[in-house]
Amino acid sequence: MQSIKQVMKEIVVVVDKKTCDVCQSEYNIYERTDREGEKHVHGMCMTCENNKLKDTLPKKEDVEDYKFNNWIINHEHIEKSIDQAAFESYQPQTDNQREALRLCKGYVSKFNNFSKKHSLVFKGDVGLGKSHLAASILKKLREQGYKVMFLTTTDLMNMIKSTFNKNSSQTQDDIIKRLELLDLLVLDDVGAEYVKRDASGFETWASEVLFQVINSRQALPTVYTTNYSAGDFSEKYGKQGKRILSRMLNSAEIIEFDGMDQRINNF
Ligand SMILES: [Zn+2]
Repeated sequence: MQSIKQVMKEIVVVVDKKTCDVCQSEYNIYERTDREGEKHVHGMCMTCENNKLKDTLPKKEDVEDYKFNNWIINHEHIEKSIDQAAFESYQPQTDNQREALRLCKGYVSKFNNFSKKHSLVFKGDVGLGKSHLAASILKKLREQGYKVMFLTTTDLMNMIKSTFNKNSSQTQDDIIKRLELLDLLVLDDVGAEYVKRDASGFETWASEVLFQVINSRQALPTVYTTNYSAGDFSEKYGKQGKRILSRMLNSAEIIEFDGMDQRINNF
């Protein structure tokens, strides 16, 4: 009678070597004799098997991409009034607004293939659809897979302020670096953020943050909206006003909006 040990025993020996057809590495061929004494031949290229396994694991870039998308979703805040904004729902009332719509559609169609000006500055009074068109551009590009983000300057300031909390997981630099990674940033309502005046008349912190962000986006597609004039910039940000405005206008096409405030018009 065979002992348990003998029954369980399987014998494995290397009987051959092969070169992998795919990666040309050498691997062993084993012969296994099972409990019944039958022989089985095995052997596979472990280099290729390991690569197959790697392919099924999420790639580092994909993980980073996922994290970045989440960061955008967690920090983006699009106001309800323009949440459903689209080119199709923009109703131009004047020739100027029709032209603005045409330019914005053109911006999307030539995105990432700009000859010269890669940014837009929407200037004009409130209620003419600047934010509506900016959000429409953003949505079209997001549909195409671009990394895009809509931020009001107020949201931007609040986001930066939240980093002052010692439990914050990100720093001001982290935020500015992430904003730099976006294919498109919409910075809505520049000038509307609350700026507390300091002893010299201007709050340097807010204007410095704004300058840093705009400066870092200079070579990158950015859409700004504002109802401020050059004079308003100086009045609001002091000396920094001119620098902020000049960075905004660098490589930007200015689209001026005129007409009546639709909200007042429909009142
Ligand atoms: Zn192989």
